Amino acid sequence: MSLSGKTAIVTGSNSGIGLGVARSLAEAGADVVLNSFTDSQADHDLAAALGAEFGVKARYIRADMSKGADCRALVAEAGGCDILVNNAGIQFVAPIEEFPAEKWDAIIAINLTSAFHTTAAALPGMREKGWGRVVNIASAHGLTASPFKSAYVSAKHGIVGMTKTVALETAGQGITANAICPGYVLTPLVEAQIPEQMAAHKLDRETVIREVMLARQPSRQFATVEEVGGTAVFLCSAAAAQITGTTISVDGGWTAL
Ligand code: NAD
Repeated sequence: MSLSGKTAIVTGSNSGIGLGVARSLAEAGADVVLNSFTDSQADHDLAAALGAEFGVKARYIRADMSKGADCRALVAEAGGCDILVNNAGIQFVAPIEEFPAEKWDAIIAINLTSAFHTTAAALPGMREKGWGRVVNIASAHGLTASPFKSAYVSAKHGIVGMTKTVALETAGQGITANAICPGYVLTPLVEAQIPEQMAAHKLDRETVIREVMLARQPSRQFATVEEVGGTAVFLCSAAAAQITGTTISVDGGWTAL
């Protein structure tokens, strides 16, 4: 399948799942806009390297997804987009009565409200072209909960709800909106937690991954950024034209339990 001629914005894409999704979309031929809140030479070099690797146009645009004006400016500076992937996200873990209010606000802003702003800014251009794809990177925590993750679970359930609403508002217009719900994905952030968990539980790498980190993921295997990226590419394909307002789990069976 070719996404040649399409432009994709992927928020929060200078690492992890966002970068993996951007790579998959570029591999499928889309021009890509990478984003984060930093503005380093490494960010711009990353985009240049990705563009060269896949022979597509790739650029990096700094925008802080905790700020509504930045979210809308990102879409404007990109000149609109055909594919919008709302991926930027952060996490914080604490019991609800000890959860710092500023952490709650930041998680809701970055993981949920940013997608409201970018989607609102991107839809008019998609409607003009009669084609568009909104892909929200939610989580297994968009469908189920875990203790101590009140803000994250609320934001992810919220984005699943917004996905359905956007699907209804764009139905029959050549635009789809869906959410991908990954389980535990092996990103650099997760990789970095493995030595800490090995030390804390006095277990070897294999055992700590299987018995501690992936205890809720029946496959006992991490999902990969390539698998999430491949799912995003599928949602952008012609075969997925009537898939809208729904979730696709990439979670090794987590939400089947
Ligand atoms: P990550 O920390 O590697 O990536 C997060 C990205 O968001 C980074 O590029 C970071 O720079 C960016 N970001 C953070 N704050 C930002 C801000 N204010 N403005 C702009 N960009 C910002 O984490 P990840 O694991 O790749 O997570 C990406 C998404 O996938 C998140 O929405 C996360 O909730 C979701 N997710 C991750 C997993 C997992 O196991 N890794 C599972 C399910 C869902």
